Amino acid sequence: MKAIRITEAGRCEIVDIPDLEAPGADEVRLKVRRVGYCGSDLTSFRGLNPMVSYPRIPGHEIGATIDSLGTDVPEKWQIGQNVLVSPYTNDGECTACAAGRYNACRYNQTMGVQRDGALTEYINIPHEKLFTSEKLSLAEMALVEPLTVGFHAVSRSETTAHDTVMVFGCGTIGLGAIAGASARNARVLAVDIDDKKLALAKLCGANDTINSMKESLHDQLQVLTEGKGPQVMIEAVGLPKTFQTCVEEVCFAGRVVYIGYAKAPVDYETKLFVMKELDIRGSRNAMPEDFKAVIAHLEDGDFPTNSVITKTVSLEEAPAALAQWSENPGEITKIHVTLDT
Ligand SMILES: [Zn+2]
Repeated sequence: MKAIRITEAGRCEIVDIPDLEAPGADEVRLKVRRVGYCGSDLTSFRGLNPMVSYPRIPGHEIGATIDSLGTDVPEKWQIGQNVLVSPYTNDGECTACAAGRYNACRYNQTMGVQRDGALTEYINIPHEKLFTSEKLSLAEMALVEPLTVGFHAVSRSETTAHDTVMVFGCGTIGLGAIAGASARNARVLAVDIDDKKLALAKLCGANDTINSMKESLHDQLQVLTEGKGPQVMIEAVGLPKTFQTCVEEVCFAGRVVYIGYAKAPVDYETKLFVMKELDIRGSRNAMPEDFKAVIAHLEDGDFPTNSVITKTVSLEEAPAALAQWSENPGEITKIHVTLDT
């Protein structure tokens, strides 16, 4: 069967791989129909993903149809049903797992990163990793996983309807955080350096937007929060400067949540941690509750799916599309690959 494979940094091609074996007793075989490229697939292609090894089949944002059932799969899963997938693993024994925080498992292996992903015709998946919805299209299903990452950050921030939440970065992850905070009826301020992405942020639920290249972020935040600063800052950029700005601009007794990986060590004025008595938290991957929350949000129909998916290409066009994204990262929010023929 056909697959997309990143063979080394900067090189992605269509390959033939052996047909899949029958699913295990607890697995289903999925016919893969939609896959979104993740930012991590892009960094793998660029040779900048420290967690990836080559060769690697990318892809973990999945819309698929159940094609075959293992012998022990519960009756709720049926052949022909459309599903989406949680692409993470957990060992069930590390301290994170023991605390019920499976999303942060020390030994997590994400599809397309530490193990092969979904950009192939068929995959076998444990049934516990499946979610479904009778209302969502396959394109919406493939959009659920990237949005769960932002929803999880909002969950980590304990955002309520009384909060003003600033989201740094309006790529897919930031847009998920904007939608998640908006779904909790918080006031959402979206920050980016690209007006097109800020327009998309408004469609996802941002009340106000700030282009931090064109105007002073500090001044705008002071105006918008009556000199207090936002209660919650969510960082979805991954630069030392944005990490610092979060603790500088958040209000006293505020919360800061980091999703991005800073690409270099960060110099902090640590007295701000103490003076403001900040809660500073990391946010990694997502929990099953986050998948359910995103599915419910997309089912409500308020999310601008068609605007977030910049383009949809065929499997044959997928390697070139990844290279094109690498050349113009600002122009593209999300590329979907359709495997339906
Ligand atoms: Zn674990």
